[in-house]
Amino acid sequence: MIVVKDLVKTFDGFRALDGISLTVPTGSVYGLVGPNGAGKSTLIRNILGIYKEDGGSITIDNIPAWENEDVKARLASIPDDWFFFLNSTIKEMKDFYKGVYPNFSEERYEKLKEAFPIDEKKQIRHLSKGMQKQVAFWLALSTMPDYLILDEPVDGLDPVMRRQVWSLMMNDVAERGTTVLVSSHNLRELEDVCDHVGIMNKGKLLLERDLSSLQDNIIKLQVAFEEGVTELPEALNKELSILHLSKHGRVFTIIVHHSAKEAEEILKPYNPILVDAIPLTMEEIFVYELGGENYEVKEIIL
Ligand code: ADP
Ligand code: MG
Repeated sequence: MIVVKDLVKTFDGFRALDGISLTVPTGSVYGLVGPNGAGKSTLIRNILGIYKEDGGSITIDNIPAWENEDVKARLASIPDDWFFFLNSTIKEMKDFYKGVYPNFSEERYEKLKEAFPIDEKKQIRHLSKGMQKQVAFWLALSTMPDYLILDEPVDGLDPVMRRQVWSLMMNDVAERGTTVLVSSHNLRELEDVCDHVGIMNKGKLLLERDLSSLQDNIIKLQVAFEEGVTELPEALNKELSILHLSKHGRVFTIIVHHSAKEAEEILKPYNPILVDAIPLTMEEIFVYELGGENYEVKEIIL
């Protein structure tokens, strides 16, 4: 578990991180979302021990992260300005990683070769940007990390490559229980992969949510009743916890704060002729959960 508490990082008096707190639970895929300049990279560099905090604390499995070699050996990262020694080949880079990461697995590296059809003997500067990113993943996953820390990892990648990168990451999560912290300026990019989301702006965390519990408890229903019923029955209106309601012909689209099962049970006595429960996208969940409030968050995610 990564716990960041009241973290402050200043650059010439400017508070890039302004007392931010967040928790990345073990085994979660935590999406850190915020606009450019929010402080995502600064936060990640602090977690990786590249920057020293000016206030507050960071612990990884209860151990302060700063200058702790044991903790660092369990973290693999892909920073946004990540670069290889460009004249090296992939193979040479691998040997370098082997020297730095005690858990580096040659076996894993060989196995992952199938996922990356890139010639190991090639100099890294001769690879395209997207291929370099793949190499970064290849090496990071070969270090057998407990924590994978990714700063806008799919920025600039085409959709095929993006899927490849996510699927590798998710495999690692499923097989090894790797904890992932991944940043993006775009909530939509993280939609399919994250189970926790933190929204940040101006060096602060605006909100933090466990999506799995949200997704189970907010649902979009499409409901229709027998002919002649043009308004939602008053009693039903009271019984359902409605976040949003619209009507198209005879079909009501209702966003409710219930599980699908709960909602169906409430609806049953009203004899609907149609009930369809549709899961919400991450974006919709935030919009409806926040209601009319929190314009700052809405501006960031929409
Ligand atoms: P993000 O990754 O969310 O786009 P950053 O963490 O890169 O944001 O930057 C947050 C703020 O801190 C920005 O205003 C940026 O200009 C400032 N900043 C980041 N790194 C430095 C630095 N090394 N020196 C001075 N200012 C910095
Ligand atoms: Mg950044």
